[in-house]
Amino acid sequence: MELTLPDKVSYILDTLHSAGFEGYAVGGCIRDSLLGKEPKDWDITTSATPKEVKSLFPHTVDTGISHGTVTVLLEREGFEVTTYRIDGKYEDSRHPKEVTFTPNLLEDLKRRDFTINAMAYNQKDGLVDAFDGVGDLRRGLIRCVGDAKQRFKEDALRLMRAVRFAAQLGFSIERETYAAICEMAGDLRRISVERIAAELVGLLVSDYPEKIRALYESGITSVILPEFDAMMQTEQKNPHHLYTVGEHTIAALSFVEKDKILRLAVLLHDVAKPLCETVDEEGVSHFHGHPELGGEMAKRILRRLKFDNCSIQSICRLVSAHDDNPPLTERSVRRVIMRIGTDAFPALFALKRADILAQSNYQRQEKLEYLDGFQMYYRKIIEAKDCLTLKELAVSGSDLIQAGMAEGPALGETLKELLELVIDDPKKNTKEYLLEQVK
Ligand code: ATP
Ligand code: MG
Repeated sequence: MELTLPDKVSYILDTLHSAGFEGYAVGGCIRDSLLGKEPKDWDITTSATPKEVKSLFPHTVDTGISHGTVTVLLEREGFEVTTYRIDGKYEDSRHPKEVTFTPNLLEDLKRRDFTINAMAYNQKDGLVDAFDGVGDLRRGLIRCVGDAKQRFKEDALRLMRAVRFAAQLGFSIERETYAAICEMAGDLRRISVERIAAELVGLLVSDYPEKIRALYESGITSVILPEFDAMMQTEQKNPHHLYTVGEHTIAALSFVEKDKILRLAVLLHDVAKPLCETVDEEGVSHFHGHPELGGEMAKRILRRLKFDNCSIQSICRLVSAHDDNPPLTERSVRRVIMRIGTDAFPALFALKRADILAQSNYQRQEKLEYLDGFQMYYRKIIEAKDCLTLKELAVSGSDLIQAGMAEGPALGETLKELLELVIDDPKKNTKEYLLEQVK
């Protein structure tokens, strides 16, 4: 088997070999190369110790010396070179307590998570595939290296990595590996939320976000996102829907592009439905108030998962606005844009479209036509550069003070009232007119 290595990777491997060490490209880059995909980065594994690696290359960074990793810099491009190692006992399903270096490549490959991630390659020896990673690539299977339960016990994050790789590659999870995931899901409680959130995002922005169903079926979401379990268990007995809230959400995920904010907004857009459900005398479900409550729940969930404030704000705004459907007049649409904020667009339209497409056929044409109309008004308003924010208002706070108003909360209120006048009639956005109104 012949793979093409980038020149810089060949150079690093040659340098190691000339100095009498072994060196291989390893892990994700070999997997991706075999799949015909462009690898994100090239990791190198070697028999040389970090000290020896540092002596061979003039520019290096101590990235994770205690774990054996040195970054070799070639023309500002970094390559992680890691010494063959055996991971010691994992304390608390989190970090290896200690790592031991080993002269044996096979030992290093054994500590890796999945067969498809445990292959190494260099020009001299070709592919080293001790666990039939190639076979699993061909079969489309995520399979643990060695005993699945044992491997998940060492590091419970691997539970989520398995599903994330399945979602990125469109693979299935091999039977024993999957059974172990179901058995060990509770161990994720001991993993830091940052690592969990990173895997969840990786799954969501993949080509197969519907694999989130496996997170639910295996019991993982009940640990990391119990709100999703409630969604999977909430029926929607009304003509607009075919599926449970959860299945509707899963369907909607694939209808938006692979963008972190959008996919998370889709994931959470109906998160409050289980709490908001009422059933009328005819047995029809209603979910009054779910967008607003959903925005609040999304905020709590995303804070719990330690997302940054900027993402939280964008996502929550989309969740709480996802059901806003103004009458199609310039005035009403301007009001909605003012209230939600221009930043929420055009993502909001993408979310609304996905929401419709994941519903039943009932009134679908009408819903899509309405959305097109909404979008057309939006574009017209943006192109007209109508005033939509306080910033664009023809008068500022200091103008009002100059005109004799006192500083204080009343000033802010007045500005807001003026903005509403202008939103209703953009022609009124002149200094003269607005100052006249204040008098
Ligand atoms: P990606 O495309 O997401 O970067 P990757 O396979 O390169 O995929 P990394 O997280 O960058 O994944 O890890 C590099 C390699 O290190 C993996 O291919 C795997 O061999 C090993 N590895 C990473 N994390 C773990 C883990 N938690 N347990 C065991 N092995 C791991
Ligand atoms: Mg990688």
